[in-house]
Amino acid sequence: MKPLTTLAFILLCVACRGEAPDKSTGFDGAAAYGYAGVQVGFGPRVPGTPAAKAAGDWIVAEMRKRADQVVVQAFDYKDAKGKIVPMRNILARFRPELKDRILYVTHWDSRPTSTGRCCSPEAQTEVERNVPVPGANDGASGVGMFIALGDLLKKNKPAVGVDLLFTDGEDYGVFGPPPVDVLIGAQYFADHPPQADYHPLFGVLWDMIGDKDLRIPQEGNSINSAPEVVQRVWDLAAELGHSDVFVPENGGGIDDDHTPLLRAGYRIIDVIDLNYKPHHTPEDTMDKISAKSLGIVGDVAAALIARQ
Ligand SMILES: [Zn+2]
Repeated sequence: MKPLTTLAFILLCVACRGEAPDKSTGFDGAAAYGYAGVQVGFGPRVPGTPAAKAAGDWIVAEMRKRADQVVVQAFDYKDAKGKIVPMRNILARFRPELKDRILYVTHWDSRPTSTGRCCSPEAQTEVERNVPVPGANDGASGVGMFIALGDLLKKNKPAVGVDLLFTDGEDYGVFGPPPVDVLIGAQYFADHPPQADYHPLFGVLWDMIGDKDLRIPQEGNSINSAPEVVQRVWDLAAELGHSDVFVPENGGGIDDDHTPLLRAGYRIIDVIDLNYKPHHTPEDTMDKISAKSLGIVGDVAAALIARQ
């Protein structure tokens, strides 16, 4: 390139940069990855275990440093075998005084059993089945993203109220059908909203969002029940240049934490990448997720709040 052409190129770039809207949200994917790593470091967050107690205490403490208010919903759950299991939902609220609110949901527990796609249940021994999953993607990726989002919301107060709900007991039992002992915290929250007239503008469940090979189609129940929220999220992701990750195709419907909330009348969708090989196996570890993927999803989550 000749010097003159180089100068013209630089000037042109400066000019176009001046005109282009700033799309960066400041979301820190590396920080989110670091928080997810701390969460996984406690060990499997199986409800009722010391690791779950420690991890839950840590989330409460971290969110108290960032949010305007932290509400802990502690309750005892009687499982299908009659065992009483302590559970905790953690709700971190930013600008709780505002009526217009956005609800984000992610689960913080991890699965007591490895029942993943690695092999058929018959091929698994009892010992293999009873290995709890580390849950780097399934249970920690969303937590990491939420804490990093907390960093951002503490720095830049949102113009709209934001509630970050960490649910417990999402993955405790079997999804069936019929589902037994799963989606426990989300159902509890649906039955016990934080205030009498609680009607968020919309909600998003963020689940398994850290896969290195991230690809998020639209979830079927979300398309059927809250299509305007699906549209909003995928349009914004495309605008931010993430349509290679947020692909506008129907990925099929699943039961997840959004289903009890949809039944309760919330306009909420599920953002999930279910196509994850180590899903519900002992291989769901930190090396399978990435700061880059968390950065992309965190960017969309942060922009959704900033645009409201
Ligand atoms: Zn799971």
